[in-house]
Amino acid sequence: MVAQRLDGKACAASVEAELHDRIATCASAGVEPHLAVVIVGDDPASHVYVNSKVKACHRLGIKSTHIELPSTASEQEVREVIDQLNGDDSLHGILVQSPLPSHMDEEALTDLIQPSKDVDGFHPENLGRLVQGRLDGMLPCTPSGVMRMLQWAGIELSGKRAVVLGRSRIVGNPQALLLGAKGADATVTVVHSRTRDAQSVCSEADVVVAAVGRPEMVTSEWIKEGAVVIDVGINRVDDSTRERGWRLAGDVHPEVAEKASWLSPVPGGVGPMTIAMLMENTVRAAESAIKS
Ligand code: NAP
Repeated sequence: MVAQRLDGKACAASVEAELHDRIATCASAGVEPHLAVVIVGDDPASHVYVNSKVKACHRLGIKSTHIELPSTASEQEVREVIDQLNGDDSLHGILVQSPLPSHMDEEALTDLIQPSKDVDGFHPENLGRLVQGRLDGMLPCTPSGVMRMLQWAGIELSGKRAVVLGRSRIVGNPQALLLGAKGADATVTVVHSRTRDAQSVCSEADVVVAAVGRPEMVTSEWIKEGAVVIDVGINRVDDSTRERGWRLAGDVHPEVAEKASWLSPVPGGVGPMTIAMLMENTVRAAESAIKS
């Protein structure tokens, strides 16, 4: 079997096309959706991610404000920026780019963002709603992007056995909740670094979502013939054949394409979906501001 490509770029374009109309409706109510992106320090990968987010805003006609602080900034300075953004009624979404410098408490800072402006969906109130099975709030962008991509490709999840590799706050755990939520109805197992014989657990799955941050860890032996495989991983690996000396690798080995029925590529899979869902959350926040 050769896997069909689960094309995140194409799916993200369809999400953006839907957003155009919603943004126009906001504009006719006198509201321009507005996202603030805060970045602290000079991590090159983070700057690349932030630039992609700002570019997506420009493409869609969402206003963006880009706030950069040096890596020497104090946690108090970031708190003050968040407080000021929370109080700005012309602004609908706030995103603090992860990772923050190690002297900062990232979770404590996320907690300060007003839940209605928490377009990353990491605030305890938004994650708590997800735990309650309420899917109408701000959902974390990467896992909700995976769900949208599965739906777009017409992949049925009900009654399927799903394995999520990874249990992080931003990907693995919310992904497991979304796959097992009413309406999606998969039966979910979460695999983490302490799982015994992760390979055999994974090899029974109809759907695998890999979010471990270990380049190409998931090889064909981990995958059942015909399984749907979503690769969330984005890892830089050395590659002397490339001029820049590195390439991007997912958490799934490319050989899995010979066994899976669907496989999302890296790059061009989950990455563009994460940005599309961020845009959707920002538009949703602007729509809520109009209603309130
Ligand atoms: P993370 O916070 O480091 O979490 C990794 C998870 O994988 C942890 O739960 C860890 O288990 C588990 N794990 C690590 N090694 C394992 C192993 N050998 N076997 C089984 N489980 C193992 O990472 P993350 O933030 O969730 O990100 C995961 C990957 O997705 C990274 O490559 C990241 O760059 C990528 N990512 C991509 C996007 C996108 O837009 N495409 C967005 C976010 C993240 P423990 O909990 O036991 O430590």
